[in-house]
Amino acid sequence: MELELTDEQQEIARLARSFAEREVMPHAADWDRDHHWPRDVIERAHGLGLTDLPIPERFGGVGLGTLETAIVAEELARGCAGFASSLTLNDLVIHALLCAGSEAQLDLYMSRLSEGAFAAYGMTEPGAGSDIAGIRTLAARRGDGWVLNGSKMWITNAPAAEFFVIFAKTDPDARHRGISAFLVERGSDGLTVGAPLQKLGQRAAPAAEVFMVDVAVGPEALLGAEGDGFRIAMHVFDRTRPVISAIAVGLMVRCLDEAVVYATARETMGRAIIGHQAVGHKLAQIAIDAEAARLLTRRAAWLADRGQANTLSAAYAKAFAGDAAMRAAIETVQVFGGIGYSSEFPAEKLMRDAKVLQIYEGTSEIQRNIIVRELARAAGRQPGR
Ligand SMILES: Cc1cc2nc3c(=O)[nH]c(=O)nc-3n(C[C@H](O)[C@H](O)[C@H](O)COP(=O)(O)OP(=O)(O)OC[C@H]3O[C@@H](n4cnc5c(N)ncnc54)[C@H](O)[C@@H]3O)c2cc1C
Repeated sequence: MELELTDEQQEIARLARSFAEREVMPHAADWDRDHHWPRDVIERAHGLGLTDLPIPERFGGVGLGTLETAIVAEELARGCAGFASSLTLNDLVIHALLCAGSEAQLDLYMSRLSEGAFAAYGMTEPGAGSDIAGIRTLAARRGDGWVLNGSKMWITNAPAAEFFVIFAKTDPDARHRGISAFLVERGSDGLTVGAPLQKLGQRAAPAAEVFMVDVAVGPEALLGAEGDGFRIAMHVFDRTRPVISAIAVGLMVRCLDEAVVYATARETMGRAIIGHQAVGHKLAQIAIDAEAARLLTRRAAWLADRGQANTLSAAYAKAFAGDAAMRAAIETVQVFGGIGYSSEFPAEKLMRDAKVLQIYEGTSEIQRNIIVRELARAAGRQPGR
């Protein structure tokens, strides 16, 4: 793997950094306080070519990879992790389409996305998140199409989505092999979106429940073949988990920025607190973790872009970066002392924003399950047997 970024990658990183400093950082505290989704700012980022990077050129996109998306996500997350999560959400839909879309589906949906449409990705349900095979949304055959019934939980960008990728059981008795993916329009009869959920952190990224009651879709809505849903979802996660890891890196970099400035200014016992080894070492640890997480992230992204298996690398990156970001944010609050507990300073927002990095797109525990499974497979064994 080439560790040096290309000129083009450095250019896109500079563009994302200046956008984050100008358009995101100054407003992030207000968005957080008001649970505000800054649609206009995402639209301006879209105008600059900072969104939907994997859309191929033939559909009006720039056709860049997971590595470039990770580079942009890190810079934007330094400004606000919730903003970066919302802005990169379409990528889940784009990768599902690239994995399994027919020419007609690609033509229709990629052009809408490249023109600025928002979409959402509906896998999780109130009763099943980590246990994907346990989803209950049902797609029952009717004529040459299907009728969908069920509900989806925690669907990021659902309040604004024009259309959804919805995962549903076409064979309820088959666990993961019974899942299929459907492209469902927001305006479909029987589909409703709940009010945005009240969240601990990442409040600039709206999430909501999606309810489906007898939602009829035609044969053109099926993405891939019947029963392909689980395979599509895993393909997507291999490409989007490195982006979540990059958001974690951006959050850690911001922790470091804030903590170093504060620790050099704040004095106790006659010296800046950075001079107390117990404080200085916290900063050193955040720096080590950020650098290690970035390397894991970029390797996972680089493998994905080369079409090589990266499930294990993506799990390393997601587990390490998510957990390290949480540690970094807790330590940043600690470096700030009492004022770190106040919304006057960004430390407490960083801590609240970090938590979900250990939860969405596969929890830290699920990443470790994946790692154990891959280790056992490499040794010709199955875990737990
Ligand atoms: C802000 C936010 C945004 C989200 N956005 C989306 C979205 O856009 N689309 C979408 O489909 N989903 C989304 N999600 C859902 C998210 O992916 C799930 O919450 C996550 O996968 C965990 O599922 P769960 O909440 O059902 O927890 P559970 O699966 O019930 O897990 C509860 C706890 O048990 C642990 N656990 C469960 N099973 C195992 C196991 N086998 N081994 C070890 N530990 C285990 C988990 O790690 C966790 O700690 C979002 C969630 C949040 C909070």
